[in-house]
Amino acid sequence: MRVKNKKKISIVKYLMTWCVVMIVVFSVFMVICVNAMADYAINGAVSKQLLRQMRKVARSAVMEQGEITFSDKIKDVDDDFYFVILDKDKKVIAGAYPDGYDPKADNSGLTRLRVVKCNKTSYYVESSYQLLKRKANIEGAYTLQGFVECKDVSTIYHNLKQYSYIAVLIEFLVMALISILLHRRISKPIQEMFQQTEKITEDLDLSERLDYEGSFAELDVLFKAYNKLLARMENVVSRQEQFNSDVSHELRTPITVIRAQCQLTREQIASGDLAEKEVPAMEEMIDIIERQSNKMNLIVEQLLNLSRMDQDRMPFEIEEIDLIDIVEFVCEEEGIASGDEHRFEYDISSTVVKADVALITMAVRNLVSNAIKYSEKGTPIHVSCGRNDFGAYVSVQDFGCGIAKEDFQRIFEHYYRTEESRNSEGFGLGLTLAMKIAKKHGGTIHVESTLGEGSTFTLYIPESSDALPQNT
Ligand code: ADP
Repeated sequence: MRVKNKKKISIVKYLMTWCVVMIVVFSVFMVICVNAMADYAINGAVSKQLLRQMRKVARSAVMEQGEITFSDKIKDVDDDFYFVILDKDKKVIAGAYPDGYDPKADNSGLTRLRVVKCNKTSYYVESSYQLLKRKANIEGAYTLQGFVECKDVSTIYHNLKQYSYIAVLIEFLVMALISILLHRRISKPIQEMFQQTEKITEDLDLSERLDYEGSFAELDVLFKAYNKLLARMENVVSRQEQFNSDVSHELRTPITVIRAQCQLTREQIASGDLAEKEVPAMEEMIDIIERQSNKMNLIVEQLLNLSRMDQDRMPFEIEEIDLIDIVEFVCEEEGIASGDEHRFEYDISSTVVKADVALITMAVRNLVSNAIKYSEKGTPIHVSCGRNDFGAYVSVQDFGCGIAKEDFQRIFEHYYRTEESRNSEGFGLGLTLAMKIAKKHGGTIHVESTLGEGSTFTLYIPESSDALPQNT
């Protein structure tokens, strides 16, 4: 089944986006509700506040000889509170209106809570016919009116609004905290898994396992499944390594015998034991057998070396070696072996490194023989060695068929060969071995190539922890 290449986003980002959308919707709803309910709430609160003050007034009122007077307790009422007691003709018999209030201009009657304007100030007004009778036993059609400035109340309204904004702000802060927490607990382990996978792909080391110490069951299952997969792959790879090792061992002996027999037959021809006319045909047959057995021998040697490297059985002796010696030796040998059909151009200087001479020679030989193999006869091959920011290096540049960018990683895999090289001899093991040798020395092989124009392979041997270039 083909999976569509859909754009992927982070789980945490996805969750957080939905949470933010929900919070925004919820906050807008909350602000609308707060605004809509504020008037209702304020009216209730103001009415309560006014009635409380008015009750205090009523409780301290005393009727003496037809006049209403007040005990000391009336001092408990707020300073900004005004009250009046009206008789049935709406004449003020006690208390005072706020400055500028004209009862004649106020035609809203004695309805319950309302707002009136006095000069430029607005007041809430509450009226009660019952309070004096209930709290002070003062009979008669008296009305008690209380006034409080709107400014005091709008503070409550303001506070209410501010509280709702603060609540929204707190929600966003909590969301930010949650997203940091989620990132730590979900994204981070997944990112670690990804980095580990990259490292395993780079180092080809399947023995590493991942630990998950978090508390999410799904991630735990994912990590366990991943470790199980690694264990299975390690098993398969080690069986393959064993198979390579066994097969190459088994094939080594018959090839040695064939090559020895060829040698023996050549000696017989040279000694003149064979009939004269049989000699040319015999020599041609031996050439063919020898060439083919040499090829088989190369493959078997590569397989054997690879399985030794994989199983850590390859002798590894570190000593001080000069890369210039290896480069000159390998180029001379490979040049002769290929019939000196390429022009070697050198840019080399003495470069002493601590490395295994046999292994580094093997790696350099592979790069040089590939340059010869994958470029036309007569074309130049640039070989250089020295030091740069990444450490000591040997670089081999050819002007051959080149490699497509998408093959850069794969050419280092076992048995991988590009489309362009299918017609030439090879088995796809040389670069795998060379990369393993580079890794064994803490280095790498970097490839730069343009299809149809040529390739440059650079073997790096870092001094200590020099940063290495990546094949992307
Ligand atoms: P092989 O025995 O096939 O050469 P290697 O492992 O050495 O195996 O190389 C793997 C593949 O990488 C080759 O088959 C070829 O497709 C490609 N390759 C390696 N070196 C070069 C080069 N210098 N130019 C073009 N392609 C190359």
